[in-house]
Amino acid sequence: MRDRQAIRLRGHHLFCMVVANAEAGDIYNPRFAANARAYHRRIKANPNQVIKVVASAGDTCAFCPSLNVAENKCRLYDYGLEANQIDLDILQPLGFEIDMKITVSELRNRIRSVFTSLPAMCYLDCPFGEVLHCDEGFHRLQKESDAESQR
Ligand code: SF4
Repeated sequence: MRDRQAIRLRGHHLFCMVVANAEAGDIYNPRFAANARAYHRRIKANPNQVIKVVASAGDTCAFCPSLNVAENKCRLYDYGLEANQIDLDILQPLGFEIDMKITVSELRNRIRSVFTSLPAMCYLDCPFGEVLHCDEGFHRLQKESDAESQR
């Protein structure tokens, strides 16, 4: 594992990797889940971990059944008129852009300050919220914010 290197995440995975609990269950297939879990652990363990925002498939997309490996693009999100919209819908409110590098701490703080509830993608585009306890994860993140501001 390239511990010293930036983790490459596409826009909407910035949100997922902070809010979802990758340990809670396998999604897609065991290899996808194990890979995503390894990155999730790194993100959780190190607030200084650098994340690079990428335009299409990132490190957590490996082994996904929707990944077009030849083009490094997602068959669900990277083609057609709505290409990348799911990412832009997260990047724009966060004020982040493709190719930016941010730390986990910066990402967590920005999500806390910008989102007051789970974004539309969690209800419209994703079947994994219950499995990965995303609602709980989001509220836990907000409570951590409260705890920090009271110090
Ligand atoms: S519900 Fe889906 S899109 Fe929303 S944070 Fe969880 S895994 Fe990501």
